[in-house]
Amino acid sequence: MTTVTPHLFIPGPTNVPDAVRIAMNLPMEDMRSPEFPKLTLPIFEDLKKVFKMKDGRVFLFPSSGTGAWESAIQNTLAVGDKVLMSRFGQFSLLWVDMAERLGLKPEVCDEEWGTGVPVEKYAEILAKDKNHEIKAVFVTQNETATGVASDVAGVRKALDAAKHPALLMVDGVSSVGSLDMRMGEWGVDCCVSGSQKGFMLPTGLGILAVSQKALDVNKSKNGRMNRCFFSFEDMIKTNDQGFFPYTPATTLIRGLRTSIDLLLGEGIDNVVARHHRLASGVRAGVHAWGLKLCAKEPKWHSDTVSAVLVPEGFDSNVVTKTAYYRYNTSLGLGLNKVAGKVFRIGHLGSLDEFMVGGVLFAVEMALKDCGIPVKLGSGTGAAAEYFTNNPVKSATSA
Ligand code: PLP
Repeated sequence: MTTVTPHLFIPGPTNVPDAVRIAMNLPMEDMRSPEFPKLTLPIFEDLKKVFKMKDGRVFLFPSSGTGAWESAIQNTLAVGDKVLMSRFGQFSLLWVDMAERLGLKPEVCDEEWGTGVPVEKYAEILAKDKNHEIKAVFVTQNETATGVASDVAGVRKALDAAKHPALLMVDGVSSVGSLDMRMGEWGVDCCVSGSQKGFMLPTGLGILAVSQKALDVNKSKNGRMNRCFFSFEDMIKTNDQGFFPYTPATTLIRGLRTSIDLLLGEGIDNVVARHHRLASGVRAGVHAWGLKLCAKEPKWHSDTVSAVLVPEGFDSNVVTKTAYYRYNTSLGLGLNKVAGKVFRIGHLGSLDEFMVGGVLFAVEMALKDCGIPVKLGSGTGAAAEYFTNNPVKSATSA
């Protein structure tokens, strides 16, 4: 037993800032009151700034990110549609599985875990698809299982080079509000997210940003998929007046108001820069321990989560258990193919240098306890070196 709240360094749910928690500490409210749209309508608009959209709209479903995945598919594609996908980690794998179960016909690029979306391969496939049979191209911007970020802008370039009209579908569950996302500039048509990562809220909101192009496809298409709970039409009918087709997660929406204020107050570009700097500190620590990331090359490095490989002969589950029981610190487990091989440090959301130092401190002790040869202080020291040598550019005091 400890009186200290467990230290949460999984890649979501992330730490909820006090301001967000306080904003949610309120009595239940009437979601059909004439005042409710004063909360919701500005949120719909401000979310567009977080996703950097040029047009379109954002839907809030009472679900997790998986619901938003499903909504994106059901509302823009038809059973039997060919789509282009890639699989290189647990979450990209699950999205393929969902697409198949909903009746799509994915052409799947199976990539090595530790790499990401194969932009060149996508470009070749799209260039050959002269009849435009591929209706959508899927990108997992941040594969949370392996700590791999992919090049969404590169996929847009591939689509443009092939003059291909397919929709661009992006999984931004562990990237929106943390990594660079420019829906408008990159021509992203559906960007899926959830409340419990970059938005720094509890789990429970599926957040789906949809371009005007995807909304038009949704309106025009024949033989679309059946849908009910996740229907765009039902949402639009009620959202336009600031309401929802069923009981919305009012408390989470109150928290979302504050979370958006925090993100926009810091400035989205500053948020992205902060994540990059903190992730670089984590990576300096991992390097100093003499350990390797699951991400094969720097171009795949994720600024929201680092999956760290334990040396051959060690079990990463023992490291995560040791960190949990001895140092009150939750790390992410290795999933599926990398189970037992990696532990994950989530470094996204409400986070600063102090917290990065804390998790590296706990991890290096846990590693040593498990017999993995690391020098105590090496990881924390390397991160501190990195941070002091790379001060925040916009700092105004001291
Ligand atoms: N996609 C990615 C990249 C994720 O990391 C996750 C969850 O961690 C999901 C999708 C699924 O989201 P949820 O668990 O919110 O349903």
